[in-house]
Amino acid sequence: RKRIAVLTSGGDSPGMNAAVRAVVRYGIYRDCEVYAVHEGYAGLISDNMKKMSWDDVRGWLSFGGTLIGTARCLEFRDREWRKVGCYNMIKNGIDALIVCGGDGSLTGADFLRNDWPSLVADLKAEGKITAEQAEHHGHLYISGLVGSIDNDMAMTDSTIGAFSSLDRICTNVNWIQATADSHSRAFVIEVMGRHCGWLALMAAISTRADYVFLPELPPKSSSWTEDMNKVVLRHRKAGSRRIIVIVAEGAIDDDLNPIKPEAVKESLDKIGFDTRVTTLGHVQRGGTAVAADRLLATMQGAEAVEAILDATPDTPSPMIGIRENKLVRVSLLEAVKETKAVAAAIERKDFEGARALRDSEFKE
Ligand code: ADP
Repeated sequence: RKRIAVLTSGGDSPGMNAAVRAVVRYGIYRDCEVYAVHEGYAGLISDNMKKMSWDDVRGWLSFGGTLIGTARCLEFRDREWRKVGCYNMIKNGIDALIVCGGDGSLTGADFLRNDWPSLVADLKAEGKITAEQAEHHGHLYISGLVGSIDNDMAMTDSTIGAFSSLDRICTNVNWIQATADSHSRAFVIEVMGRHCGWLALMAAISTRADYVFLPELPPKSSSWTEDMNKVVLRHRKAGSRRIIVIVAEGAIDDDLNPIKPEAVKESLDKIGFDTRVTTLGHVQRGGTAVAADRLLATMQGAEAVEAILDATPDTPSPMIGIRENKLVRVSLLEAVKETKAVAAAIERKDFEGARALRDSEFKE
């Protein structure tokens, strides 16, 4: 009988509660015991974990954020603190961990899994755990769920929270469009996404924005203002009272200079627009999850439990993804590596390479 711990870590995303609920209920259905770890990895270190019953997650589908808390936990990068986490898990009889978070959180889980046998050996040598405990807890089985509003993880088509965030952005842009239309104004709207322009691009398409700036498709530093001005003037001439420009948080030009909403406004003001800037900020984290995220989280939560039950000590750490509408288990390490490769390609100005990496996810 497996005892599985589940935690949420990194930035919160809508659907995390649905994921935890699915892990708890599907785990119980599959004859496991499930513990919720509160406050991300910090809860492993402070022994903040609680056994969950079927009823404990009642109603969780419709709550936003994450009810078991999340935190950035710097200590967890340090082996000694991971050892404290390992000790607390063994004390509670836990032999598997399901983490819902971004690439940092999933990397942390894989680190813990790799260290686990040596941490257990240390704890046994220090007399903190018995030989039987050491033997029973020889391996840690993990599986990763991707909770992220940015849809920035490689090897999966969508992450838990991305469609909720996109929906909130579209709603907010619609509201801004109403006032922009009324006053014939231009609005520059900044949306989240540091290395990943998915939210910005999908929001631009879904709201018929006039122009969009993305990290993976940087415009020329020498001419982006003129290029943009030409397009928005054409749209105005064609009858558009409102002008909407969406800027991803991580938007840059091809010399890697950030493109800030204020600079976009300045350019638009110069050609005669009455321009306002709106930074959507944390409303994009979304509150309650849209149905698509609830479904994704529910199916993937169950699959994460199955992946734990299937695992052997040699199974590479799995990340649960979705490709072409089918749940998939992919290598967590490979997915993290490919995700980081996109950011690295952008940083060395290999924008075509960055886009090719994004595209390859869909071509395989
Ligand atoms: P995200 O999961 O959204 O990418 P972070 O990168 O902030 O967010 O990671 C969340 C948490 O995961 C960190 O606060 C830390 O506790 C843990 N973590 C991240 N990277 C590592 C790592 N290399 N080793 C161990 N733990 C890590």
